[in-house]
Amino acid sequence: MPTWTIGAVEITRIIEIEDDSMPAEVVLPDARPEAVLPIEWLQPHFITADGRLLTSIQALLVASEGKRIVIDTCLGNDKPRAVPQWNQRQGAFLDHLAAAGFPRERVDYVVCTHLHPDHVGWNTLLENGSWVPTFPNARYLFTAADWDHVSRQPVTPLGDYCGDSVRPIVDAGLADLVRPDHRITGEVRLESTPGHSPGHVSVRIVSAGEEAVVTGDLMHHPCQIARPDWCSPFDFDPQQALATRQRFLAEQAGRPVLVIGTHFATPAAGRIVDSDGGLRLETSPDK
Ligand SMILES: [Zn+2]
Repeated sequence: MPTWTIGAVEITRIIEIEDDSMPAEVVLPDARPEAVLPIEWLQPHFITADGRLLTSIQALLVASEGKRIVIDTCLGNDKPRAVPQWNQRQGAFLDHLAAAGFPRERVDYVVCTHLHPDHVGWNTLLENGSWVPTFPNARYLFTAADWDHVSRQPVTPLGDYCGDSVRPIVDAGLADLVRPDHRITGEVRLESTPGHSPGHVSVRIVSAGEEAVVTGDLMHHPCQIARPDWCSPFDFDPQQALATRQRFLAEQAGRPVLVIGTHFATPAAGRIVDSDGGLRLETSPDK
């Protein structure tokens, strides 16, 4: 059963992790409890009663024009990572995909909004000691700018996520290095939202007069709708990320666009409305 329906497009949300374990001081240092608690609409979905951030690592499955599209592949299993919750995971993610009608052999496209370890993990899986593509019949869409950046960078303290989750896809000939405005189907296209990474993209879905957008990491948490000036230390270019976030929010505000936050906790989506001079996320009933 899809989580959302946008015209003829069905979107299903697959959660790998959802909890309050992501420390604000790491991902959004300005979002301290005393700073987020006054933003009343963040409770109960997006912060705890004592002001800790609730976040999610999740994939969005998009069914459009007979094509199965996976947006962001989360953390993956068996990956050596410095973050304890990310390290050597043994999750049932692929079972959840199959139960949603997305068995891995039948996925047509994999979109990585950017090439960070919490968005590329299930690109590969461990088979006989080597990393092989999880989705053998898919084209994996990476922006050329992000591949250029990540393929040159030294191994980061987080782990060799390029080596175990991105480069094997390129080596297998399954990667398409695309422009940030690449169109996947008549209903689904990439949209350039740079800053968090050089070639960062969001995904715009328009069908039968209805519209949704998957943010990627142009925001990490709904508190940035109220406070777009709160930046993440993980932004490649914080000034560009801020400009992208402000432009994005201005463009969606007051419009009937379902904004699906890649790291937003359940219900993960809503419409951006302007109330009392500030922006907030107006969520639909939980699904
Ligand atoms: Zn992320």
